Amino acid sequence: MHTTRVIIIKSSREIEHLKRSNAIVAEAFQALRMAIGPGVTTKELDQMVEKIILSRGALPAFKGYRGFPASLCVSINEEVVHGIPGQRKLKGGDLVSLDVGVNLNGYFGDGAITLPIGEVDGEARRLLEVTERALYVGIEKAEVGNRLFDISYAIQAWVESHGFSVVRDFVGHGIGRDLHEEPQIPNFGSPHQGPRLERGMVFALEPMVNEGTHEVKILSDGWTVVTADGKRSAHFEHTIAITENGTEILSIL
Ligand code: MG
Repeated sequence: MHTTRVIIIKSSREIEHLKRSNAIVAEAFQALRMAIGPGVTTKELDQMVEKIILSRGALPAFKGYRGFPASLCVSINEEVVHGIPGQRKLKGGDLVSLDVGVNLNGYFGDGAITLPIGEVDGEARRLLEVTERALYVGIEKAEVGNRLFDISYAIQAWVESHGFSVVRDFVGHGIGRDLHEEPQIPNFGSPHQGPRLERGMVFALEPMVNEGTHEVKILSDGWTVVTADGKRSAHFEHTIAITENGTEILSIL
């Protein structure tokens, strides 16, 4: 069967739905920021997030997605993305990446943050700052008239100019009535390439930035992605919409 690869344009009404879904993502992060700390298990965070999502009449988008067993991805230190919550306790000095997906009435929200637990070293703080800023560097390029890989290039150039690397094997994506829609949005690429950006496009931008090599591998649980060299990684993600009023971040309150 022929698969079409089209970027679905959303109406302003659909973007309103997506905003409501993404507001629940933002609410989950607010609660996570309060809840994290040494001694907290990753499973406790997962249960808290699931409760918040369900209490808003929504569904956790990741739970059951291709068999993923939890509502929250928790990825610590050298874990890049897709870590499975369990009995592991957070400890001071950890970097913990948290990724939340929400389905509200068939409209999806997606976001991620990386938080330090207690005191972390200077290089860890720099990794967090550069990665979070990389997300906004990408968002600034998400405007009508630019091309898709202008976003990719800007993120890569920013990250590499600070001596870190961008993960190649996992990328950002379109989002809407599906969690993952076209286009794939790499965090690396050449400027002035790719589809032209248009009003009504909704993207989940999500730079994954490594201290060392960009190469990753997947653990035997089939999910957890780790850096190939064991050095640390960070991940920030927002769902954004390109609208007539400019680019709007949906995954904030
Ligand atoms: Mg995503």
